[in-house]
Amino acid sequence: MDFEKIHNNFSMDAMLDYFKKLIKEYDVKFIILKIDSESLDKCKDLKFSKISNINKLQNHLNFQKGYQNTLPEPPCIYQNPFYNPSSFFLYDGFLIQDVYRKFLNLNFNDEPAVVLTDKLLCTFDESDSKYHARTIVFGNPAIISFSGIIMGPARPREYHLKSLFYQNNDSEFIELLNYEYAEKFLDYDNPKINHAFSIFLVQYFYFIRDKKFKFCNNNNCILFNCHWQEDLLSLIEKGELCNKHLKCLNKFFKNCSNEFRTDY
Ligand SMILES: [Zn+2]
Repeated sequence: MDFEKIHNNFSMDAMLDYFKKLIKEYDVKFIILKIDSESLDKCKDLKFSKISNINKLQNHLNFQKGYQNTLPEPPCIYQNPFYNPSSFFLYDGFLIQDVYRKFLNLNFNDEPAVVLTDKLLCTFDESDSKYHARTIVFGNPAIISFSGIIMGPARPREYHLKSLFYQNNDSEFIELLNYEYAEKFLDYDNPKINHAFSIFLVQYFYFIRDKKFKFCNNNNCILFNCHWQEDLLSLIEKGELCNKHLKCLNKFFKNCSNEFRTDY
């Protein structure tokens, strides 16, 4: 199934327009690759990047060695009635990055590429020994996840509190709750998703330009790391580069020419 067909409101052109505005119309040399789920799903290694236990780091070593003689562990299916779709696989963000890299024949030194996916990517956090959903996995290729944007940053606290009253199979309850908080989080059918993608694209641009890249502490700066949907919505509404990062941008372009390139 084609990415744009699944997500009616996704528009590559709209996303790139926002991106250009955010980086003050500078021309950027950048490859964007859009991968249809269908073509990627043919990769035989893909099944090994599915997470089998949310509290255990997937075996990266086996993955690197190759899996010719091994069987994948049964993947866990994440179920959450408050999201639509309500059940889905989780993917280890770094393992799937390896799969994409092979699939695209990319080397570490190649021009930076971006993959847009609807798969839900997670990375393992040692501090609480748990996988967490991510909006973006940096590297080459960088992967920006549609589902990660929806499910990575948390919905409001009150939403979660009210969801405690949920009783099994009460679809009306979920509908009402999602309706009540519709303005407080992004969902798949929201056209603002294009703007969200552009913000993560800018973050990746800084990541490849600045070896010491760190997220910004200023929550109005588009390089802020959004843990909450409200943060992300606020960036979409009025986020800009802060003065410090604007200066960096001007520095990036001082001595080099760039051109914008997209392959998709
Ligand atoms: Zn900043």
